Amino acid sequence: MNPISSLSLSEIRYIFTDVDGTLTTRDKISAITYQSLWNLQSAGFHIIPVTGRPAGWCELIARQWPVHGVIGENGAFYFRHHQNSMKRHFYASKVERQKYSEQLNQIEKEVLQKVPRSQVASDQFSRLFDLAIDFAEDVKPPLPETEIRKIVEIFESHGATCKVSHIHVNGWFGSQEKGTACFDYAKRELNLNSAEEIQSQCLYVGDSPNDEPLFERFQQSVGVANVLEYQSFMKSLPKYITPSKEGDGFVELAQHLLTSSKSS
Ligand SMILES: [Mg+2]
Repeated sequence: MNPISSLSLSEIRYIFTDVDGTLTTRDKISAITYQSLWNLQSAGFHIIPVTGRPAGWCELIARQWPVHGVIGENGAFYFRHHQNSMKRHFYASKVERQKYSEQLNQIEKEVLQKVPRSQVASDQFSRLFDLAIDFAEDVKPPLPETEIRKIVEIFESHGATCKVSHIHVNGWFGSQEKGTACFDYAKRELNLNSAEEIQSQCLYVGDSPNDEPLFERFQQSVGVANVLEYQSFMKSLPKYITPSKEGDGFVELAQHLLTSSKSS
């Protein structure tokens, strides 16, 4: 991983960013990190958060944050608030969603029985497509790695896809995937019609194993420094890394982008 100072930013206009552990610092978005979103927007950059967080949260992010749009529940949908109306694009039908929901209920029962200190994530009520099991957000002390692996094994034994963030194991059925959703968003909403345009104008920043598909797919991928803590879980690392962790690392990336845009 190279320092972000070596990242060439001349054509970058779109910043796809993870939220938890990338924009947040110790679980909150600090004033300086939130300000950096506004600074980037004012300078002409467009921000698209990409998160495992639920549809209910994404409604608010799309409506009230300084963002172009938001991809939620690990790529199950995107929301974009544009010209006073909310566009909600889902990648599965209502019928499929109902079927997946029944299958996830079975997994939930098994996880809670076999991993007794795990919990259903507190934001589960506002999710449409996935099941989030908390191992480190409200669960204190956090579950050890062996228990996290056990949760992953239960999801996978039912044929679900799952990803580990720094607080949750998220699992779902269906073909949604964050990288695919980002590239689809770039085509539909950013009018970037070739892989070359996407790769030259977009950047992805994240912090943990659930960002791996994006670290792999985006040629310009950045990790905030806390990504180093998850290296044992990961096969695909970001190409660049910030000096600082979490939201402070995002601020460093924003400053690099803003300085480069002023000097170009
Ligand atoms: Mg994260």
